[in-house]
Amino acid sequence: KKEPESAEEIMKRKTKEHPCYNCQAHQFARIHLPVAPACNVQCGYCVRKFDCPNESRPGVTSSILTPEEALNRYLSVKEKMPNLTVVGIAGPGEALENWENVRNVFELIRKQDPNVTFCLSTNGLKLPQYALELKELGVSHVTVTMNAVDPHISGQMYQYIRYMGREYTGDAAGALMVANQIAGIRQLIANGILVKVNIVTVKGINDSHVPEVVKTVKSLGCFITNIMQMIPVKGSALEHVEPVSNKQLNEIRKQCEEIMPQMYHCQHCRADAVGTLTDDKSIQLKGFVAEERP
Ligand code: SF4
Ligand code: SF4
Repeated sequence: KKEPESAEEIMKRKTKEHPCYNCQAHQFARIHLPVAPACNVQCGYCVRKFDCPNESRPGVTSSILTPEEALNRYLSVKEKMPNLTVVGIAGPGEALENWENVRNVFELIRKQDPNVTFCLSTNGLKLPQYALELKELGVSHVTVTMNAVDPHISGQMYQYIRYMGREYTGDAAGALMVANQIAGIRQLIANGILVKVNIVTVKGINDSHVPEVVKTVKSLGCFITNIMQMIPVKGSALEHVEPVSNKQLNEIRKQCEEIMPQMYHCQHCRADAVGTLTDDKSIQLKGFVAEERP
């Protein structure tokens, strides 16, 4: 008789079968469920009518599902896609600002499927509040977008942040973000959750600071970092900032690879992405699964 897997073995297997945490896992599929429309910050590179660019490529908008619709989408995709291993929530806004929806979706799916991996992306502001609940819901993989560890630099990334009923800007915003991101990451890691950190590189603001961020998150025990280029979006506060070149991006990644493992295969998926990373079915979703709304 086969011994039941230990918690450590389950975690290893889930990570091996997660296409974003393991570049060898390209045969496995993930589904993003777009249940999180609201956001509690305004990143300088974001235009809210599109999906959260901390995770996805700007320029596409996902339509929002209720938790029940999300469960139905998951079940009908799972039926057609036996290689589906991961359910993620990645916007289109900030997952933790839509906590009721997030909790409901994970609870509904867990009742139907005890094994599927739960993954979530966040800007980290509310992580200290929810890290423990994420653990209790069975979330095993979390991506935190953290663009700076220096409050002054972090503050330049946001036009404002809203926290506990108040709005903060500049250094005060940066100080709160950095403190909560670090405290939240610590709690996740203490609870055995694997953490990936996305870093959006903005020329003239944090491009020379990225290795500092990578050193810090390594010391916290994060698993991998994903250094991305900011893509200027028309209408955003940073629309006139020239993006870092591919050459500069690769130099930064190379330098940071000396510190800890780097992700090179992120596809900047939509908040409603479905399929393997290289064969996204979200565009065809209408024909692929039964329509959720009449
Ligand atoms: Fe936009 Fe995402 Fe930043 Fe919110 S966290 S402002 S959705 S990029
Ligand atoms: Fe994975 Fe990147 Fe796509 Fe997220 S955006 S599902 S990390 S490939």
